[in-house]
Amino acid sequence: MGKSSKDKRDAYYRLAKEEGWRARSAYKLLQLDEEFNLFENVTRVVDLCAAPGSWSQVLSRVLIQGEKFGRAGWEQKQKETREYVLGRSKSTAAEDVAPASEDGGAVKDVQRPEKRQGVQRPEKRQGVRIVAIDLQPMSPLEGVTTLRADITHPSTVPLMLHALDPDTYDPASTTSSPSAPVDLVISDGAPDVTGLHDLDIYVQSQLLWAALNLALCVLKPGGKFVAKIFRGKDVDLLFAQLKLVFSRVRVAKPRSSRASSIEAFVVCEGFCPPQGFKPSLEKPLGAGAALPVPDEKPEATKPSRTVRPDGVVEIDLGDESDEEGIEEGGPRWIAPFLACGDLSAYDADATYALPKDRVSLDPVQPPTAPPYKRALEMRKLAGGAYGKTKGQEQKE
Ligand code: SAM
Repeated sequence: MGKSSKDKRDAYYRLAKEEGWRARSAYKLLQLDEEFNLFENVTRVVDLCAAPGSWSQVLSRVLIQGEKFGRAGWEQKQKETREYVLGRSKSTAAEDVAPASEDGGAVKDVQRPEKRQGVQRPEKRQGVRIVAIDLQPMSPLEGVTTLRADITHPSTVPLMLHALDPDTYDPASTTSSPSAPVDLVISDGAPDVTGLHDLDIYVQSQLLWAALNLALCVLKPGGKFVAKIFRGKDVDLLFAQLKLVFSRVRVAKPRSSRASSIEAFVVCEGFCPPQGFKPSLEKPLGAGAALPVPDEKPEATKPSRTVRPDGVVEIDLGDESDEEGIEEGGPRWIAPFLACGDLSAYDADATYALPKDRVSLDPVQPPTAPPYKRALEMRKLAGGAYGKTKGQEQKE
């Protein structure tokens, strides 16, 4: 998160610096968690395309440090307030109350629970493992194993498996699954956007498939997959594909994601790999007929997948209807769309007035090796933004 824009960016950009997040993206994950309770019973996670690391920060703070945000944090706050009001936790309440005045007067200055330090009582989880992968180097974070690797390359699988099970991983093994599978795979992968929408959507979809293929290797049955998508015109084909391996697929747009951007997130729950399905990055999903159709479903609702001679994949989800009662007949299936994040939260597209005396904060974690580093060096060598102009040369 650089400072070159003199803090004229959106509220989340500034808030992230104030609250110690490495990037404003942290709020997207926090708002997704608010809606979907993503971290419930989660201990093993892979964070793909993780640099500079704000999503990993969220994972570290929730899973390692036991902090509660989102729905869990809100429920905790409610519980504490209830306890406080009922006077159940007398010892805690007593600490909050200022001593009575000498004249035996009324108790003063009662600090409300939500203002107390440590309202979010740490809840330590056992057996936590967080693996973060990115092309870019990432500064260390408590409890997070970071790997510098390309998620689209098959050589990343053994690296990831080793990072997940450093003590038991056998490099000679040909299996592409960890000994203990993971509960959640998240991916915020994005290419450097060119502004050419079709090209950007295509490159983004390649990252998404790569993330999904890695997720298929490591997820436990029932596990969750959350990934950034760009909503292009064929995005419903993607939803239909995801629906073959997850029992519930929804699309979400956190409030911190600009409405003007085509970005959204797929939230897939209940990983249910079809019988006999073997994940492989050598023959990845998305590159031909690699995904068998689950056959444990009753005949009437059985989806079918056909690869036409021209290579187009047609998916028919049969006549099932999902838990929300949305009809899914025919080859197209529209995933339920949810806007998430508290309505009182900042609007990422709005401009908020800043106080005149406001001081711009430094980035929480300057990029270790930003992709534009070389360009900056070259610009410096050339003597300015575009080298010297004719006018400058004449002045000299
Ligand atoms: N979630 C991150 C956070 O909270 O800090 C922000 C992720 S940023 C929007 C997108 C990241 O995708 C970049 O750091 C980029 O290096 C990474 N990326 C793009 N292509 C990749 C690839 N093929 N393999 C690994 N990482 C990739």
